[in-house]
Amino acid sequence: MRAPTSSDLPPELEALFPHVDPATHRLSGARYVASPNCDDRPDPADLSLLVIHNISLPPGEFGGPWIERLFLNQIDPAAHPFFATIRDLKVSSHLLIDRRGAITQFVPFDRRAWHAGESKFDGRARCNDFSIGIELEGADDHGFEEAQYVQLARAARALMQAYPKITADRITGHSDIAPGRKTDPGPRFDWTGFRLRLEFPR
Ligand SMILES: [Zn+2]
Repeated sequence: MRAPTSSDLPPELEALFPHVDPATHRLSGARYVASPNCDDRPDPADLSLLVIHNISLPPGEFGGPWIERLFLNQIDPAAHPFFATIRDLKVSSHLLIDRRGAITQFVPFDRRAWHAGESKFDGRARCNDFSIGIELEGADDHGFEEAQYVQLARAARALMQAYPKITADRITGHSDIAPGRKTDPGPRFDWTGFRLRLEFPR
């Protein structure tokens, strides 16, 4: 039997936290909007990495509809000069956590979302095959909101319980699996604080 850890909670408290529905592979409490930017995983049972990103559209601006539109292939290239440069991108994370901590899910966790691109973790390439991607609405030079850390830790905890191959040492940043190409979640992301929240949920 596994020894209890500080993250084990009594069942009545556990019920207050989000969880993954094992039938639908969706996170409770998340708004669900289906993105087409996903496909089958080569091995659906191999789900063993969590990748944290940041995104804002236009870059550095928060609160608009554009991240969701990008993930739905509905970006309006005329709405901002930057959008013309990303009009043909086909991308989506599994989850997006906005600046207020609201979570939207775009892809069921058992499907392969197109979030990491060319990437390598622990010597293994094509991280999309075996990872879940979470985007935080943000930018490399901005701090993240308290509500985002709270919700990220709750979501990560639920994912670790649903997919036990995702261990604390298999939660990484996009910049770590695509160095030189990607910089998110950026230097302002508080890894120490985030890992503490995983240990001591609230
Ligand atoms: Zn990223």
